[in-house]
Amino acid sequence: MSDIAHSTVTFDGRFARDFKEMAIPWRAEEAPDPQLLVLNEALAAELALDPAFLRSPEGVRLLIGNAIPADATPVAQAYAGHQFGWYAPRLGDGRALLLGEVGHADGHPREIHLKGSGRTPFARNGDGRAVVGPMLREFILSEAMHALNIPTTRSLAVVATGRSVQRESPLPGAVLTRVASSHLRVGSFQYARSTGDIGLLRRLADYALARHYPSIAAAGNPYLALFQAVISAQASLVARWMLVGFVHGVMNTDNMTISGETIDYGPCAFMEGFDPGAVYSSIDEAGRYAYRNQPVVAEWNLARLGESLLPLIHDDQEQAVVLAVEALGGFRRQYSDAWAAGMKAKLGFRAGLDDEVASALVDELVALVQESRADYTSFFRHLANAARGRAGAARGMMVDLAAFDAWAERWRALGPDADAMDRVNPAYIPRNHMVEEALTAATGGNMGPLQRLMEAVGSPFVERPGLERYTVPAPDSFGPYRTFCGT
Ligand code: AMP
Ligand code: MG
Repeated sequence: MSDIAHSTVTFDGRFARDFKEMAIPWRAEEAPDPQLLVLNEALAAELALDPAFLRSPEGVRLLIGNAIPADATPVAQAYAGHQFGWYAPRLGDGRALLLGEVGHADGHPREIHLKGSGRTPFARNGDGRAVVGPMLREFILSEAMHALNIPTTRSLAVVATGRSVQRESPLPGAVLTRVASSHLRVGSFQYARSTGDIGLLRRLADYALARHYPSIAAAGNPYLALFQAVISAQASLVARWMLVGFVHGVMNTDNMTISGETIDYGPCAFMEGFDPGAVYSSIDEAGRYAYRNQPVVAEWNLARLGESLLPLIHDDQEQAVVLAVEALGGFRRQYSDAWAAGMKAKLGFRAGLDDEVASALVDELVALVQESRADYTSFFRHLANAARGRAGAARGMMVDLAAFDAWAERWRALGPDADAMDRVNPAYIPRNHMVEEALTAATGGNMGPLQRLMEAVGSPFVERPGLERYTVPAPDSFGPYRTFCGT
């Protein structure tokens, strides 16, 4: 072990220290032959980590928790959660570890977390492992979301372990190094509440306030304010998902953060042809987490958070319920406001436009896009050209041309700002067939397609020559897309 190299990195084990009740000290499984597949150099720089070191054999072992500073205290975090509506009292990091936290250029600490680092006491029947495809998938999707200005956990690296992992067939194992402002979830509060230890629950809430919402920590009722802040953050987050056609796929309460960052990229996908009922996850047979249900599910999850916080919100249970219900009542308005504001931006509306006129145009357009099952991303991207007087491409995606022409005439009369539209309507999203192409190549050892895809989705709003194939929907031969979680 060369202490000199990794002594430059320190992991503050704050969560491990302060929340022993919710953190089991644990070690990452030793990888037989770790090979760095992809490193996020920009993120490394933000974290003041030296990319050259991270690429070295010692650095790669640091990235998977195999060579960590002697004073690091990796832990598996405990949490509970409602999975597809069913309560599981003890989930926790079955195949993940929190290494600790490091500083970030923005002044806010970040947690470094491993996914696929071996069985923990929460592993139940799982093998604790992850495989190359799904970990690279999280890398691509999370970084694409970040580039779309959507709050999300980040991906620092994916390292192949050199171990063969048994799935339906043997697949190459991998560990994802994840970065987040914290890994506090709704399920963390459900777990703390279920212990019956109100002191623990209060400490966790104080920690969440200080870490994510410091400006409201001094509110008259800080715990109600915390609940309200998470409601606002999630209303805004889910609106952003909806505005780019993102389907998370597994919105269990353990996969919903307190920070408002998107977390747990398992069976998620970007919608192509606009379909409110879009669902990709192979296990979501009832469509619980379909595109259109996401706001309602978020609200349902937040109700579970409210229940967990009740003893802190008011000493009197009935009073606490009244306050929590009132707070939760704000979700729908905040979600709708965020969505409507985002839609107006997508349509290039200028400030000061009459709200009713704008809303009517938004609603009519959404109905037209839905009726046409138009490719969601490219339609809005083409619409900016319609604002410039070149309606052809957008118009060509519509089934009811007369209705679209009538709509477009009213819209253009308002002088939509085409350049502003280009700043919010992405040209490049991680299209499902492109992601699959990249993962298939990477699993076979060719990282080229992934690197090119990252180039496109890493700067989604600026169209560049040579990247045309990333702007078009999957060919029919790609077939209906299915995604899988827990892989
Ligand atoms: P997820 O659906 O990815 O949020 O995972 C739900 C729960 O299953 C979490 O507690 C995970 O830690 C656990 N889990 C998923 N896959 C595995 C695995 N291969 N081994 C152990 N635990 C797992
Ligand atoms: Mg999860």
